[in-house]
Amino acid sequence: MTATENPSTKTGKPGTTGAEILERLSVTPIINAGGPNTKHSGSRPRQVAMDAMQAMSETFVNIDELLIAAGKEIASIVGAEAATVTSGASGGLVIQAAAAVSKGDPEIILRLPDTAGIPNELVIQKRHRFIYDHLYLTPGTRFVEAGDDSGCTPEQLEAAISPNTAGVIHLESPFKNLDVVQLPQSAEIAHAHGLPLLADAASMLPPRENLQKFTSEGADLVSFSGGKAVRGPQSTGLLIGKPEWVEYARLVNAPNPTMARSQKVSKEEIAGLLAALREFVEVDEEAETARYKRDMEMVVDRITEIPGIAVSLEHNYDHYIPHAVVRFTDSWRGPEGAEIARRLMLGEQRVYVTSGYTGDREIWVDPLNIQPGELETVARRVHEELMKAAGGE
Ligand SMILES: *Cc1c(COP(=O)(O)O)cnc(C)c1O
Repeated sequence: MTATENPSTKTGKPGTTGAEILERLSVTPIINAGGPNTKHSGSRPRQVAMDAMQAMSETFVNIDELLIAAGKEIASIVGAEAATVTSGASGGLVIQAAAAVSKGDPEIILRLPDTAGIPNELVIQKRHRFIYDHLYLTPGTRFVEAGDDSGCTPEQLEAAISPNTAGVIHLESPFKNLDVVQLPQSAEIAHAHGLPLLADAASMLPPRENLQKFTSEGADLVSFSGGKAVRGPQSTGLLIGKPEWVEYARLVNAPNPTMARSQKVSKEEIAGLLAALREFVEVDEEAETARYKRDMEMVVDRITEIPGIAVSLEHNYDHYIPHAVVRFTDSWRGPEGAEIARRLMLGEQRVYVTSGYTGDREIWVDPLNIQPGELETVARRVHEELMKAAGGE
């Protein structure tokens, strides 16, 4: 769906807009040109997802039955063997680890996060440590790091495995795939020791081919966010993988009375995710990419002439859709990433852009959440703040 096909922002009672709800609370809305970051409210749910949530609210159902059926449906939509729904990709990481430790054993499932006497170590490459990795520790597990900050070899990964290992973690995320053991080999090593390969690929959609790629490369469980570019409910995630591991994961997940009980996902959210995912996989990715490119080229053209600034359009492993990447070069004398991003969030038209991902020398403009009519404002505000900063302000 293109941004211009988005319906109006009217929600709830006729005549009530999101902006009005915020105004009543004295909270200023933002223009989101920084991508589906949770603190900046994720992504805009597809209209089909909102409609499905409304429709599902009229009906009651046994949640176990719904989750099993929804899992089958997701598997068929994405071309996986099995799948289930989690509370964000984060909730998926928690139950991946819990599945690796409990493997469907009802006694262990109920006593987690107490892992006394059972293998509870998760091997993770040092370079794959990241801000959300503690989710993997929720079920009473602990990390054993392989390699160091400069990288990891297959031998180092294998050497970190012991009789106390429950699983091997693999991260697919921007700026995390250099000098590491790649997923196919991580999986091979894990499997040679009878262990599952647990993958976090939360933000790696698009490209849509990733929905199959990581499982076909050998991952037993892969987590994706449902609330990023899939544009399902913000609180949802997809966990896909091998049938036995998906079933172990489902058994430790809410609504069961386990350590993951706090991670419940409602019937409305489940229905919303299914609807969003169906639409997501049907979108013509080439046309979508071309549209994002055009939008970002407009931003690039606007900024191109500022002294000390290099700006380019980037779309690769590290940039899931075309981004306008603004770089502060050695000849730049003004403030850099974080400060420019802070200034963009001031004033009447607050613009959120990505900063800090690769140090302080870059900011990124991400088109995913830019709504109809906002692109011009984004380009103007970024240009304005950079010009002021270049002039020494
Ligand atoms: C976004 C992200 C998460 C969290 O996903 P949610 O769906 O917001 O819970 C976890 N891991 C990585 C690598 C991410 O990018």
